[in-house]
Amino acid sequence: MKLKNITVSLLTAAALSLTTACSVNPVSGKKDFSLINKDQEVAMGAQQHRQVLKQMKRLNNPGLQAYVNGIGQALAKKSHRNNIRYTFTVIDDPSVNAFALPGGYIYITTGLMVYLNSEGELAGVLGHEIGHVTARHGVKQQSAGIAGAILIDILAKRAGGNAGSLNQMGKALISGYGRDHELQADRLGAEYIAHVGYSPKSMIDVVSVLKAQEEFDKYQARKEGRKPRAYHGVFASHPSNDQRLQEVIGAANRIKSAGKRSANHDGYLQRINGMKYRISKNNYGRIVVGRANTRGLTYAKLAQRSKVGEQRLRLLNGMFPKGQPVHGRLVKIIN
Ligand SMILES: [Zn+2]
Repeated sequence: MKLKNITVSLLTAAALSLTTACSVNPVSGKKDFSLINKDQEVAMGAQQHRQVLKQMKRLNNPGLQAYVNGIGQALAKKSHRNNIRYTFTVIDDPSVNAFALPGGYIYITTGLMVYLNSEGELAGVLGHEIGHVTARHGVKQQSAGIAGAILIDILAKRAGGNAGSLNQMGKALISGYGRDHELQADRLGAEYIAHVGYSPKSMIDVVSVLKAQEEFDKYQARKEGRKPRAYHGVFASHPSNDQRLQEVIGAANRIKSAGKRSANHDGYLQRINGMKYRISKNNYGRIVVGRANTRGLTYAKLAQRSKVGEQRLRLLNGMFPKGQPVHGRLVKIIN
């Protein structure tokens, strides 16, 4: 990965902006000590966006790009900062990731999308990233002279991420993001998705998807007799038992429109049907979606028709470690 260019352009942008003093934070309403004003932030984001697109592959699927963009724009409109233009991009990359640049540039990888199981969860990921933009987390980092924070990676901080080009980039670029910023992004994301009508619980589901990745790796490591990857997970307990997460997300339940819109499990699965999935290094399969219409269908039985095993299927369907297919609902396998 060529990271130097991005770092250099960033430092230049920060250096150019030394003339500005404070700007009001859109979320807190208080003055931020920031050297970067809105126009500079947007210009910087646009420049970094071009760098990202040079280094990562935009998914060539206009229908899916439009779908993700539509959900993202609806959320952005309800956010604390609807006076900037947001850009949502699906990146064709197997690493499990989503990130945001200052100025409203937001990305999600196919590697994360294959693990999501509803439109509500997709909205949760996008809402979380919008939260980083509205609270100007990236700008704060860049103002402090930390070039490392231009990519805000929901997984790298949460569960360490898995191998992949993006993750290397993430490792090189991310620094200093603590749990407070992540919780704030979760709170803002829950608020935005509630305003659009999804249940704030979708945000817990998203964090659970990330937590399950970590648990699955521990399970795999035991099986393979290796050490688990060096995850630096933020959540010691399961997200549904995490009190602070429950508190920040619970507040969004009071929003009037919360829960009026279905999380839309089946609709989301239909959208990602056929999406590329990395089984292991250099070995790819595709998502195949079908309806669980046979009584007593199990993931063990589905694994016989799939390129991945029973537990990996559970992980993909949000059912790790013990769940079974829900009768009548769509289910993913890999072929
Ligand atoms: Zn985050």
